[in-house]
Amino acid sequence: MAPFAKPDHFDPELQAFLEQASTRLCQWFATASNRGPLPALSALPDVAPPPQGLSVDALLDDLQLVMEGAYQPSHPGALAHLDPPPLTASIAADLICAGLNNNLLAEELSPSLSRLEREMCRWFADRLGLPLTAGGVAASGGSLSNLMAMVIARQQADLQDDPRAVVLASVDAHVSLAKAIRVMGLASDALQTVPVDHEGCMNLDALENQLKALRAEGRPCLAVVATAGTTVHGAVDPLVAVAELCSRERVWLHVDGAIGGVFALAAATASVVEGISQADSITVNPQKLLGITKTSSLLLVANQSHLASAFSTGLPYMEPAWGDGHGSEIGLQGTRPAEVLKLWLGLRQLGEQGIQSLLEGAIQRRQSLSRQLDASRFILLSGPLHLIACTPKNADADQASVWSLATRQSLLEQQLMVSRPLHHGRHFLKVVLGNPHTQSMHLNRLATLMNQSLLGLR
Ligand SMILES: *Cc1c(COP(=O)(O)O)cnc(C)c1O
Repeated sequence: MAPFAKPDHFDPELQAFLEQASTRLCQWFATASNRGPLPALSALPDVAPPPQGLSVDALLDDLQLVMEGAYQPSHPGALAHLDPPPLTASIAADLICAGLNNNLLAEELSPSLSRLEREMCRWFADRLGLPLTAGGVAASGGSLSNLMAMVIARQQADLQDDPRAVVLASVDAHVSLAKAIRVMGLASDALQTVPVDHEGCMNLDALENQLKALRAEGRPCLAVVATAGTTVHGAVDPLVAVAELCSRERVWLHVDGAIGGVFALAAATASVVEGISQADSITVNPQKLLGITKTSSLLLVANQSHLASAFSTGLPYMEPAWGDGHGSEIGLQGTRPAEVLKLWLGLRQLGEQGIQSLLEGAIQRRQSLSRQLDASRFILLSGPLHLIACTPKNADADQASVWSLATRQSLLEQQLMVSRPLHHGRHFLKVVLGNPHTQSMHLNRLATLMNQSLLGLR
């Protein structure tokens, strides 16, 4: 088989190769429930290229070896992380995307796809209730979306030259903010955390007081970050009130909706992130609950022109943009793939109804598990989304650590994979109910085993 597709005739060998690769993938899915979510360590094929290129069969066998060792998000017991099974339309779109090999760097390297990305971002912005001036840009993950948001906020506050500028976010905000602050060259104490209430939501009075204290100190605040869906608790900060405060104080509001933002896409679930429309910028990660293949994150901004203000450098080696601007002029990345293709096609596959039932199904599974866990003996953390975390009530940090380790292990032996976050100094077991293959029987078994695990304490 030729290593490049023929430009002047249909190549049946290429077709057969892609079909065989697809068949391997379909077989991998079809056997997911036989094997657990987390495979045993498997052999890896040679890394170095061989002296002579490999045959199709050898290539496929090498691929197979790596697939055997892969994490399996399609197993119904894959409940540990925000990594659901992939939408099948997203898989097809990813294949086409690779074949097109377009580049969102510049419009002439991705004419239709650049436009599709702009339009898709505008659709998201509209659904999330942002104004007509809004727009966005795709990014390879939420960490990058958050970083771009902070860079834009700093620029709009005219604080580029002030390393003392501060970002305020709840103590449960995502670690990517700490990373953003570091690479932005801000002071080591630039990320100041606001305490949360017992529901895991940012304490509004504390936020107001911290803003006041900063003002008294003469230290500028470049942004407040509210989280819509915290990593362990699944809490949504009080967006309406935080937005009102930020507007009064004239501070940029970024909503990190990497987990929760997508709930605004369906009318039936939008109330869980009420107020998100008031944000100056929003991170959403369709790669999380919606099953768009990785990576898929969007940074949405209420004013589209802020993107170019922050990131445009000019692209003197390119033809001028004729549409909405070059992809690399509105974000931090240069060359990047057309990730929008799998997002767009995936959402078209789901349709409004599919999106809604995915979101509602996830919340319902969380509610069902929550009802079955023994609330008299567990501390249960959960917000309005699809996450729940628990730890034994009558245990100290060491006992909780031992319990969580042993319980996670015994659950894994039953092909149920949950995660073990350290949260406020104590280990929890966390369950993410975003997997549409998870049925009542799996949840019943999980709840029974978790409740039984408490018997092992003391
Ligand atoms: C996942 C997540 C991020 C980071 O997204 P990546 O795609 O992993 O970079 C940021 N914020 C929150 C709240 C998240 O859950």
